[in-house]
Amino acid sequence: MSGRLIIPVFIPHEGCPHRCLFCNQRTISGQAGQPVTAADVRAEIHTWLDRASSGKHEAQVAFYGGSFTALPRFRQEELLTAAAPFLASGQVRSLRLSTRPDCMNAEQAAFLTVHGVTTVELGVQSMNDKVLAAAARGHTAADTGQAVAVLRQAGLETGIQLLLGLPGDNRTSLRRTVERVIALRPDFVRIYPLLVLRGSGLATLFQQGEYTPFSLGKAVVLAAFMKERFERAGIRVVRMGLQAGSGLEASLLAGPWHPAFGELVSSRLMLRQTRKLLAKAATDNVALRISSRDQSVFRGMKSANIRRLEQLGLWRRVTLIADAEQARGTVQEVAAKQ
Ligand code: SF4
Repeated sequence: MSGRLIIPVFIPHEGCPHRCLFCNQRTISGQAGQPVTAADVRAEIHTWLDRASSGKHEAQVAFYGGSFTALPRFRQEELLTAAAPFLASGQVRSLRLSTRPDCMNAEQAAFLTVHGVTTVELGVQSMNDKVLAAAARGHTAADTGQAVAVLRQAGLETGIQLLLGLPGDNRTSLRRTVERVIALRPDFVRIYPLLVLRGSGLATLFQQGEYTPFSLGKAVVLAAFMKERFERAGIRVVRMGLQAGSGLEASLLAGPWHPAFGELVSSRLMLRQTRKLLAKAATDNVALRISSRDQSVFRGMKSANIRRLEQLGLWRRVTLIADAEQARGTVQEVAAKQ
């Protein structure tokens, strides 16, 4: 196997009991029109498997963009059983889906495992009840705690999606959200800076001057803090920022959008590690080792990190070593030979 192949099947807004303040899944998925049918699901899986020279990947079908477990049971069954022949043949290894924290209980989790689901992502967004209420989420932080417990009990891999910059959120409440999520011990986290999308309730607030999105710089700083904290707690951060797509860019009204948001965050963290190492280095010349795949991340967008190190008078002290064996995202001081 050469890695995991995620086959996305978008079911925009299906099952959602109402529209959350910030959401416009049709824009994010670039998909409008009729709900997907079982035949659509099968066709999508075939397309992706053909394209990816099947057999080399561990394929997983992912139902994204709606509230899967809020769908009527017959509809859940229709979508899941469409993937069943691929599971039976071994072409697809497992299924994953995203849903709301208030739409999960032990019986529902058991139903999912029977149908080959191994991973569930919860749209948690925040662990602050006031922030959740202002975003018209319709669930509380306690619902998230309960959902994660149920998923763990059922042996399902559990992911948590968080938003950065919700109305009423600030550094303090965000830090609390991070600590409360860590206490839940999810398997992984995704971090999305909040964008103002046309057609969302947030767009109206923005146009009325009642919501100001984070600047890109602030979103990067806060996402860097979150990533560092989660990873220190042993929780993987599998994505930061929305994937670029024609629908998304066309609908973007405002907010900290960057097509390589995750790379901006990783660059910032590498700069921080470098400065820390240089600050405590005993000698003037310091050899630093990074992964050979991190060279552009280390330099930063348009070499911003190098320029910053130059401004601080630190870059002249650095001898950079690129090493394929070094872990991604890490900077390590290489001890001088005696
Ligand atoms: S955020 Fe999730 S629950 Fe809310 S409308 Fe969008 S897809 Fe539905």
